[in-house]
Amino acid sequence: MTNATHAPGTNWSLDMNGKKGLVIGIANEHSLAWAAARNCHAAGAELAVTYLNDKARPHVEPLAQSIDAPILAPCDVSRDGQLEAVFERITSTWGRLDFLVHAIAWAPAADLHGRLVDSSATGFAQAMQISCHSFIRMAKLAEPLMARGGSLTTLSFLGAEKVVDHYNLMGPVKAALEASVRYLAHELGPKGIRVNAISAGAIKTRAASGIEHFDELIRETEAKSPLRRTVTADEVGRAALLLVSDHTTAITGEILHVDAGFHVDGMIFH
Ligand code: NAD
Repeated sequence: MTNATHAPGTNWSLDMNGKKGLVIGIANEHSLAWAAARNCHAAGAELAVTYLNDKARPHVEPLAQSIDAPILAPCDVSRDGQLEAVFERITSTWGRLDFLVHAIAWAPAADLHGRLVDSSATGFAQAMQISCHSFIRMAKLAEPLMARGGSLTTLSFLGAEKVVDHYNLMGPVKAALEASVRYLAHELGPKGIRVNAISAGAIKTRAASGIEHFDELIRETEAKSPLRRTVTADEVGRAALLLVSDHTTAITGEILHVDAGFHVDGMIFH
């Protein structure tokens, strides 16, 4: 018998009604952030979403309208004041925040495509600022809005833990992001704020197109992951929904692999 310890009649549906969340990282309908946003909206959450700049706005605005997002704001985390302005909108509109999903990453192509050993100090710092420190800044801005507790979720990749060919400097950047998840979970846990990451399998998105030989990574995943397939953006979006929902209230500091099990294998020759 399943759920034997739970009272009969408990509602197990993933109900996000009344929850207010911020999703950062939607570029288009293929974005992992969009998969998270549409799943959270479908479960009843109200969402604030952002777009990078005027060029990105026409791609994001129709998606935001389709989920009736009451807040749509520009946010380039490298531009002074833009992230703060998003949180000011949230404060004036809702006065609180229940969750946020951080799904952004960037590195200069010259540094991303070369060996880590050749990366420039400037390129490394930019990648770290945009892909890692922005999550820490969001945690700081979210903290006062999460007086009732909350959930912060970010997106990582296996290259944080193991060497993945062609992931290059994003490996150490994601490693810093995953370590930040643990430290933020430690620091914000006493306030009831949970902090987690999803380590997603390889999925073709715009950000992924910046990684050289990405198709080979997809083929490797299909051939070698325990489930013998890649994952879909929707599967990552549903995992994000789970982590920001009340179904995971005891989960924090966790790196949840949503990668068809690709991370479990060592050297396996098929
Ligand atoms: P995507 O291109 O759809 O999303 C990346 C987002 O980062 C874009 O919306 C872009 O506007 C945003 N961004 C870049 N620079 C920014 C800045 N300065 N300020 C604000 N936003 C900025 O690609 P995606 O694959 O959905 O990437 C989302 C996250 O998922 C990233 O952290 C990525 O590393 C991670 N991830 C992706 C995969 C994959 O295979 N696609 C696997 C594991 C983890």
